[in-house]
Order: sequence, then structure tokens, then C-alpha cells
Amino acid sequence: MKQKENILIIGAGLCGSLLALRLAQRGYFVNVYEMRPDLRKTDISAGRSINLAFSDRGNKAMKLVGLENKVKSLCIPMHGRMIHTKEGETFLSNYSGREHEYINSVSRGELNALLLTEAEKHENVNIYFNRKCKSVDFENTTALFKDYEDKTEFVEDADCIIATDGAGSALRKSYYLGKKFLFSFSQNYLTHGYKELSILPTETGDYKTYKNALHIWPRGDFMLIALPNLDGSFTVTLFLSYTEGKYNFNNLTTPEIVTKFFKNEFRDALKIMPNLVEDFFKNPTAALGTIKCSPWHYKGNTLLMGDAAHAIVPFYGQGMNASFEDVVEFDSVLNQNKNADWQTIFSAYEKTRKKDTDAIADLALDNFNEMRDHVGQAIFQEKRKIEMALEKEFPEDYTSKYSLVTFNENIGYKEAMLKGRAQDKAILNLLSNKLISTNDKTSTILEKVKKETEVILNENRIAGL
Ligand code: FAD
Repeated sequence: MKQKENILIIGAGLCGSLLALRLAQRGYFVNVYEMRPDLRKTDISAGRSINLAFSDRGNKAMKLVGLENKVKSLCIPMHGRMIHTKEGETFLSNYSGREHEYINSVSRGELNALLLTEAEKHENVNIYFNRKCKSVDFENTTALFKDYEDKTEFVEDADCIIATDGAGSALRKSYYLGKKFLFSFSQNYLTHGYKELSILPTETGDYKTYKNALHIWPRGDFMLIALPNLDGSFTVTLFLSYTEGKYNFNNLTTPEIVTKFFKNEFRDALKIMPNLVEDFFKNPTAALGTIKCSPWHYKGNTLLMGDAAHAIVPFYGQGMNASFEDVVEFDSVLNQNKNADWQTIFSAYEKTRKKDTDAIADLALDNFNEMRDHVGQAIFQEKRKIEMALEKEFPEDYTSKYSLVTFNENIGYKEAMLKGRAQDKAILNLLSNKLISTNDKTSTILEKVKKETEVILNENRIAGL
């Protein structure tokens, strides 16, 4: 049965287009306003980061809207991290000891296009492009837009407005500037920024390095990563400080310095990146930050979702997955609150969801240190070996933090964080006190790790963590 409510969605990115599709499937009338041109018709970059790591939480959302198979055809499985040492040696560190657990590289543009097309198949959805939201009157549930085509401004109203307009959200700004209620907001930038580069395919269209992995060149203060694309290329991202260290974005100013930096630090990558200098000076350097805010909603009128509510740094590969999971959670709140008003629904959603998005924001910062530094350290490699062995031999009894976050879509990020951090600490304690080693029987290690984890979890419970 079609329900009467008119919902206005601001932003047709990954979260907004999925939300439009799901709400249409539920029978709502949905109008979506997107500031950029239609990416299916115009050759524009889909926004930041050309490809993304897509995993089980995101896939749960695709299952919900019936798109699992279509999305699968856009995905390249990545079974582990391919670590590249400074000397040019490589080794593969699997993401999980369970073979069916892997992440995928997916094109942001292709995925967004699919979601838009599927949403538009519903007659109760209209998507308007080139319309930028300038502000939201959250008391009267109206939004002011600028039409980039005829340069006019217009106001739209709706029964409720959901803003999925990303990290620079117009609704969030209106909450902040409106000063009509107690709105808490924090934005913390990393001192590191990022720049996208590329490894192009060979002349015959093949991959120049191993296809089914997320490549990492960890160098302590900075790192390079590469994710495969379906056309044989890789999108490469350099994460580097703006100002600190021998090399930083501010002093990589000439082709000679950039080439020298890569020669010293990423020699094997440089060999397959003849286009490095061109990419480096053509592509922008962008900042990375974490945004937390509350409340996400104003009465039953407006709601923030996706990056607009909780932008995170990209180091767990979970920002998009979390934004997709928002839609799954919202859908389940709608199921649990049939016939409730929007205020009840928005409150219930924020109550269940915020603790988990706060947790993934913190986990993503942890992983920044793990990826750029820890993956190259002996004790962390030993810990990873132990985790792999435990997951392989005891798939039912042990799940690492990475797997809890990435592959266990049935528990929230907060639960994954608390358990995962305790396990990490337990293994590192046991290793540094020489109470376990990779030569021990896996069953003995499991027993010790479980016991030590329980001790840590208990201490945390007592400390109220
Ligand atoms: P967005 O994707 O930002 O979409 C917002 C949409 O709203 C856009 O279409 C925009 O044009 C539109 N819009 C903005 N303002 C307005 C306005 N005023 N009016 C109308 N429309 C507007 N996540 C992962 O899960 N895995 C990864 O591997 C990963 N890698 C990343 C790498 C980098 C370098 C970065 C920066 C992020 C990465 N992310 C990753 C995070 C992911 O990109 C975001 O979490 C995700 O895009 C959030 O989706 P969204 O729809 O909420 O916001």
C-alpha cells in the first residue's frame, strides 16, 4: 500500500540514492535534490575516492533492496592486504582466516549510478539534479534550493526532510547556525591529507600488480594504498602529512622532489606509475576529518543521515558501509514503529544508531595507525598470524576485531569495538610477556587469549567503558 507522506531527500550520493530506493519500496513519495549533474549522463568524477572498499554491512543493505547480485558484478574481491616493504618485497596478509570473508573494491560512480537507476524505476520517486540546497528551515520543514540550470532559487516543503548531503551538510549547518536548540558539533581534521594517483593497465588491459588485494606501502608517518578497478587500473591514494616530516604535501613542490620521494619510499610502485608526476600535479590534495554531532533530528521534521551525521576518516573502509547500514537500521526502526509519528521514529533511530557510528569513527582513527605503521611491525605481524590461525582452526570460537567490524554485520560497531579492542590487547599482552608464541598449539593459544580477553573486558566493565 502506498503511504501518503512526502519525503524530501537532500543529496543523491551513495546514502541518499539508497534511502530513496528503500523508501520508495516502502511506498513513500520521495523527492530527491542533488547539487551535481546526473553522473550517468555527464563525465564527472563521482566525488572523492574513485573506488571504495565495500563489505558485509554495505552488502546487507544491498540485500535489503534486492540488489546484491547486480552490485556483485561491479565488485573485485580483495582477500587481504598486500604489504609492500621499502625494499620492494611483498607479502599477503589475509583479512580473515575464513575463506568466505573478504572485502571488495567497487567503483563509487558505478554503484551510485545503479542506485539512482533502481530508485528512479519507482514512479513515486523523482530525482532532480543541479539543485543545491542552500539552507533548511527545520521549524517549518522547508528547504531553499538554487537551481543551477536557470539560476533561480525556490523553496520546497515536505512532511519530513532527510539530509544525506555528505560531510558539508546544508541541514547540519542550518542546525548549527539556527541556534534554536542545543546542537553539539565537532569536526576534527587529521594533520594528514590525501591525494589520488593511478596505476594504469598494461597495453593489453591487464593489471600491473596482483589484482585481488588491497595494496599497502606502510611507512610509519605516511602510506600509499591501491585498490583495483574493473578496467585493469588501480586507484592509488597517498596519505601524507601537510606539514610534518621530511616529505610532506607542502614541500613536494617539483616533479624532481616527487619522483625522489617515490624512488626512496615506494620504489616498486614508481616502476608501474610512469604517470606519477602528471597525476600528482593534476589531482587535488584533500583533507580528512571526523564529524560527530547531536541531535541528528529536529522534532519529527528533519534528520541527518550518512556522512552528514557522521563523517569518518577512511582507514577502516567503512564510511560508505556505515552510511548504507544507516538505511538498514532506519528501515528496521520503521518496521518496529509502524504507525508512529516521525518524531518517535527519528528519536528511536538516533538512539539505536549513534553509539555505533561514534564507535566506527574511533575505530577508523585506530586503523590509521595500524595501516600506516603497525602492519609493518614484527609484533603486529605476529599478532595477525595468530589471529589468522585462530580464525582458521576455530572459526566458530574466534573472530578478530577486523572481522567483527567488517564481516559481522549482525552486531553493531560498538560491540565489535569493545570486544575487538579487548582481544587485541589480550594478544599483545600475551605476546609481549612471552606467554604465547606462534609455535604454540592453536588450541592453547585460543584458551589463553579467551581468558585474557575476559579479564580485560571485566576491567573495562568495572571502569564503565
Ligand atoms: P556523499 O557520498 O558525500 O554524498 C553526498 C551527496 O550530496 C553528493 O552527491 C553531493 O553532491 C550531494 N550534496 C552535497 N551538498 C549538497 C547540497 N547542499 N545540496 C544538494 N546536494 C548536495 N567508505 C567505505 O565504506 N569504504 C572505503 O573504502 C572508503 N574510502 C574512502 C576514501 C576516501 C579518500 C574518502 C574521503 C572516503 C572514503 N569512504 C569510504 C567514505 C565514503 O566516501 C563516505 O562515507 C560515503 O560517500 C558517504 O555517503 P553519503 O551519501 O553520506 O555522502
